[in-house]
Amino acid sequence: MKLYQLTSSEKKPTKLFVGGLHGKEGLYTAPILESLAKESKYTGKAIIVPCIVKESKYVDVLSEKYYQSKEGIKLLHLIQKYKPCFYFELHAYGEQSYSKLTDSEREQRIGVPPFVDLGNGILLGSIAPILRSRFSESDFCVTIEVPNWKSEKVQAEVLEILKLALSKAKREEVMHGLRMRYPVQIKKAEELFRLYYRNQLRPF
Ligand SMILES: [Zn+2]
Repeated sequence: MKLYQLTSSEKKPTKLFVGGLHGKEGLYTAPILESLAKESKYTGKAIIVPCIVKESKYVDVLSEKYYQSKEGIKLLHLIQKYKPCFYFELHAYGEQSYSKLTDSEREQRIGVPPFVDLGNGILLGSIAPILRSRFSESDFCVTIEVPNWKSEKVQAEVLEILKLALSKAKREEVMHGLRMRYPVQIKKAEELFRLYYRNQLRPF
């Protein structure tokens, strides 16, 4: 497992960017996170893991079982070791999963809110509730789903979002940047988050 560490003079906040959590999605997430690791504009301490596992049996990160798998245990170790307050999880999905991931009935169906399409099939949402409970209220935890059938243009757009998180020191600055870029979509994602966590947590 490759790991990059970028540390600025302030050393805080600690940010963890991970990709390739299961299956073969690392094929799509690794190039994006490899590019992120080459960025020169960053604040705090950033840990970047382009791909936790190259190829594994697909176990959904929403299930407890994932956190008992080899790759899930690796992920938990990273979180325990670095205690990030910015946490970005990068996944890749196939075209056939789009409707399931964005289904407005997703919460009734499987107990978690749908992802919001930022445009171009890039999906944004919170992280698995099982994992969110390991972070503190003030931590900033985001999942991005990359459409695996799309072009380099989409990868570049995902990289821009991650660069925003890498360069800013405060979550509000990142949220501001996201709202400027995707006003309607971020409003929707924030609404879904607030409804799900009944206003007990700030998005995300
Ligand atoms: Zn995934």
